[in-house]
Amino acid sequence: MSARREIPNAVPHLAGNEWKYVKECLDTGWVSSAGPFVGRFEREIASYLGVEHAVAVMNGSAALHLALRAAGVERDDAVILPTLTFVASAGAVVHCGAQPIFLDSEPVSWGLDPQKLADFLTRECEVRQGSVVHRATGRRVSAVMPVHLYGHPCDLDALLEICRRWSLAVVEDSAEALGALYRGRRVGADGVAGCLSFNGNKVVTAGGGGMVITRDATAAARVRALATQARRDPLEWVHDEVGFNYRLTNLQAAVGVAQLEQLEDFLDRKRRTAEHYQRALGGLDGVTVFREAAWARSSYWMPAVLLEPRRCPDVRALIRALDADGIHVRPVWHPLHRQPPFAGACRGPIEVADRLWDRGVLLPCSAGITVEERQAVIDALIARLA
Ligand SMILES: *Cc1c(COP(=O)(O)O)cnc(C)c1O
Repeated sequence: MSARREIPNAVPHLAGNEWKYVKECLDTGWVSSAGPFVGRFEREIASYLGVEHAVAVMNGSAALHLALRAAGVERDDAVILPTLTFVASAGAVVHCGAQPIFLDSEPVSWGLDPQKLADFLTRECEVRQGSVVHRATGRRVSAVMPVHLYGHPCDLDALLEICRRWSLAVVEDSAEALGALYRGRRVGADGVAGCLSFNGNKVVTAGGGGMVITRDATAAARVRALATQARRDPLEWVHDEVGFNYRLTNLQAAVGVAQLEQLEDFLDRKRRTAEHYQRALGGLDGVTVFREAAWARSSYWMPAVLLEPRRCPDVRALIRALDADGIHVRPVWHPLHRQPPFAGACRGPIEVADRLWDRGVLLPCSAGITVEERQAVIDALIARLA
């Protein structure tokens, strides 16, 4: 009998200078929010993405919160975002005192559907004194948040063009998409601000961490101020407003810098994993692998397949069974309009997101996954198909 195999869904791959840089923090005493790795992490992310400013914060959720604030989202506003995303995207809206409006995804990119965004704005909103107002609630729509889901870029140009036409701020949730390309350009820097996450399961990790990236010096300064209690002066305890302590520590940044040195290798490994799944599963009847659009290069944060009911009547039962066998597949994000805190939220017509949720399975994708482990995932999945 062979030992029980555990294949994690997405765990950190700590194969570089992590230990060395963390030791440097401990040896020098720079363990907290001051220290050289924080600035270095910010500069290296900014330079990788080709943006002027990057502000490190304690996690991706905090990055989204402050990016929305910097984009001008205020109490009682509304923010449009896809229903198919992690709860943190909408949580950030609520933490601004605003309300989410959930729209559907588009079946190629799994991101916010530009046509449905345009339809919603045309049918349900109007411009009053220079602001876009959602007619039914009277709320000002102040921003749109595209999410690059599972590392695949959204149809950005189409979304940006609509937002430009309506003068809506764009805040990109790029938490899953570090390294992804939209028509050859790195995603995350097209709106007022983009947000990254360095949680343990993301493309690179800092243990925990986030970053706001922006080309706008004013937005960057605003995010930095809010993340550091809006303190005006380094000596005096004067605060311009009530802010937050959202800072990243030097210890975390040290891990982040070491991980970033391995980013291209991680992206290669993730791509090979996705290609392996595609080769093995893509040709099967009733199985659709989530593939890159011709204009896209995914970070392949999390490879996904859709299973037709004739091959898998109950996707949740399959996920539970594989998980119990140590093959840690996961369901697609639970659409937010179906979640208790958002039961009464405004939304457009939703069908694609519900289908992706109902039929989708996310496959293990740690950068360190081996060929044998991938094959075990494939074999276990196929064995459970009808
Ligand atoms: C991970 C994630 C976040 C939040 O990042 P944390 O660092 O976990 O706070 C936000 N949005 C999406 C789409 C994510 O996947």
